[in-house]
Amino acid sequence: MKAKKRILFLMSDTGGGHRAAAEAIRDALMMQHGDAVSVRIVDVFKDYSTFPFKYFPDFYPWIVNSSKTSYGWSFKLSNTRNRARVIARGMYVTAESKLKRMVREHPADVVVCVHSIVTRPAMHALMAGQTRPPFVVVVTDLVSTHYFWYDKRAERTLVPTPLAFERGVLAGLDPARLRITGLPVHPQFTQALTDQATARAELGWNPDLPAILVIGGGDGLGPLEKTARAINSRKLRCQLAVIAGRNEALKAKLASRRWKQPTYIYGFVDDMPRLMAAADILVTKAGPATISEACIAGLPMILYDAIPGQESGNVDHVVNGGAGVFEPTPRGVADAVASWLAEGPEGLAHRREQARQLGHPNAVWEIADEVWAHANQPRIPVKRKMAARLASIVGAGS
Ligand code: UDP
Repeated sequence: MKAKKRILFLMSDTGGGHRAAAEAIRDALMMQHGDAVSVRIVDVFKDYSTFPFKYFPDFYPWIVNSSKTSYGWSFKLSNTRNRARVIARGMYVTAESKLKRMVREHPADVVVCVHSIVTRPAMHALMAGQTRPPFVVVVTDLVSTHYFWYDKRAERTLVPTPLAFERGVLAGLDPARLRITGLPVHPQFTQALTDQATARAELGWNPDLPAILVIGGGDGLGPLEKTARAINSRKLRCQLAVIAGRNEALKAKLASRRWKQPTYIYGFVDDMPRLMAAADILVTKAGPATISEACIAGLPMILYDAIPGQESGNVDHVVNGGAGVFEPTPRGVADAVASWLAEGPEGLAHRREQARQLGHPNAVWEIADEVWAHANQPRIPVKRKMAARLASIVGAGS
């Protein structure tokens, strides 16, 4: 029997998008190659880094919600080619032995990185051996992609948009190693999306009322509660579903309120395709994965928030692409919901079609093919020139 191809995904649970991307590609690979693949998904911050990075997944929701401006500034200040390189080198130095252990503990035929900050430190660790497996980067931010994502040594860097491609070229990548695929969205969205009536019946929602779905990413981020309350205050003829994600406190707060229309409160759900199939309008923060899923599900969106820097470009992507609008105040969101509902089923059908046009349903398959092709390539000899060795010692090498 032929040996299985070992595929190692590097990610971290900062938000829900990185895991969603890894699982989408994993499941596409399993559907195509079944028993011929063996997949490991590793949270690099949690399992193979040191303080303070180790606690990043725990602190991320708090940092983004409570220190949004500082987070935006750190993104901006670190986002030059040289600074990204130096910071990544610093991270590698602090976690070197753990990252090398990660490489030893997870021998792989291909490494797939779906987290910007992990990219360069992981590559440094792989470069410490005599040979290394091919390295594929799948960029999971849509437009305003940080320089952390781009490492010249990666065999392939798969990006979701032409702007992310251009930034890769600016970062010094060979355009032949870059490819625009779209962002990977789980095959369930492309292959098994149920019709609206079935999805509503399965969820126990009203079959006839227009449905507004409110999501704040995997961690229930941004002014989600205020936004839901603003919609509630309009007493619209609709039903509301609010997903608090992993934010338990928010879920409890939402569940204790009295609502003026049929309202369903959820924690972290694992059937997002069904919820999106059942809804008519999505109210969301500008998370790249949620946006990409909504486009494939043909769900027009009202964006209520964006993480500064990281998600700022996503707003233009959605608005210029005709898939939705940006309303940064709860009141603005409620106005937009009311006016979209007033357009009636025809208006909504038109918006749905526009959202669908921005989707990349084939992205996950194209990415799975790339990963599979690289898993079947031989290991790559690591060249270490004297100059590069010296550079790595003084901490300025790439
Ligand atoms: N998600 C989920 N269940 C939830 C909330 C979110 O599966 O209860 C998924 C959502 O479908 C998407 C991801 O988590 O795939 C959120 O990623 P996004 O990039 O939109 O935002 P992030 O959480 O990374 O900030």
